[in-house]
Amino acid sequence: MLDVLIVGGGPAGMTAGLYAARAGLDSLLLEGELIGGQVSTTNMLENYPGFPEPIGGPELMMRFSEQAERAGLKIEYRPVTRFELGGEIKRLYSGEHVYQARSVILTMGARRRKLGLENEEALVGRGLSYCATCDGAFYRGKPVAVVGGGETAVEDALYLAAQSKVTLIHRRDSLRSAGIGARRVMENPNIQILWNTRVASAQPSANGLTLRLIDENGQDRPPLEVAGCFVAVGTQPGSELLKGQLELDEAGYVVASEDTQTSIPGVFAAGDLRKKPLKQIVTAVSDGAVAASMALNWLHNR
Ligand code: NAP
Repeated sequence: MLDVLIVGGGPAGMTAGLYAARAGLDSLLLEGELIGGQVSTTNMLENYPGFPEPIGGPELMMRFSEQAERAGLKIEYRPVTRFELGGEIKRLYSGEHVYQARSVILTMGARRRKLGLENEEALVGRGLSYCATCDGAFYRGKPVAVVGGGETAVEDALYLAAQSKVTLIHRRDSLRSAGIGARRVMENPNIQILWNTRVASAQPSANGLTLRLIDENGQDRPPLEVAGCFVAVGTQPGSELLKGQLELDEAGYVVASEDTQTSIPGVFAAGDLRKKPLKQIVTAVSDGAVAASMALNWLHNR
């Protein structure tokens, strides 16, 4: 029986684990894939305080896990396949394996949203990608497209433009990203932007993919030949297995206030999984610390 079980090994989970371990709680973090979550697919971070020189996402997350483990956090690499959060004892399953805990901190974050193409699954790994830093090198020196207009699309476009001609395809006439990255995109000679444009379909071609493009009225625009197409149209929360158990908003984010308490006592939600106005590493880290402290209070009060 654990004091606290943390699900997800991104910044929120790692910070919750660090604080829980330092508070002397018997804590375990479960991660189904790779430590670091979305941050591990980020090339360079320029807005995480304390690092005047940009730091790579994977390196930052390695430091997070090193620090948490040094504090005593145990980490296991297993995906959770079923949650039973309702009772006094929380039970989480990974296949046949059962974990029991008095409190749970959910930090499963969010992952890239799909574009919605008919053949999207089939194109993944064959020209279509959701991770510029993972797959960009495959297309070095070849034309690529990025779809989206938020921070991720901007970062992906800038990352790829260092080695390729990039076409940024955005459905509106202004970027959602409004920061320094957006300015850099506008000024980068290796990036052209197709405004008011959507990808209607993508078909494999001799050189990669042929993108059929349409304007805001659904009219065809000239098709685009690219070696690779990177989709950056937002994220969706990793909350599928929580449906029907605790309160989620209409987009699937866990409803929890600033104290990270969810609709189930003893269950806390931190990081990008939680409905909140600013999804950043700093806010995830902050949530993680709050969640661990709330779990500690919860355990003391029982
Ligand atoms: P986002 O902010 O939700 O932006 C998604 C973009 O994709 C928007 O421009 C949206 O268009 C477009 N889009 C959505 N669905 C589409 C579709 N079906 N077809 C075409 N375009 C579509 O997502 P994000 O850029 O992944 O960022 C997610 C969160 O992480 C944000 O809170 C962001 O600030 C944060 N983030 C921060 C950093 C950083 O600070 N360094 C880096 C990455 C992400 P519209 O603009 O028309 O809605």
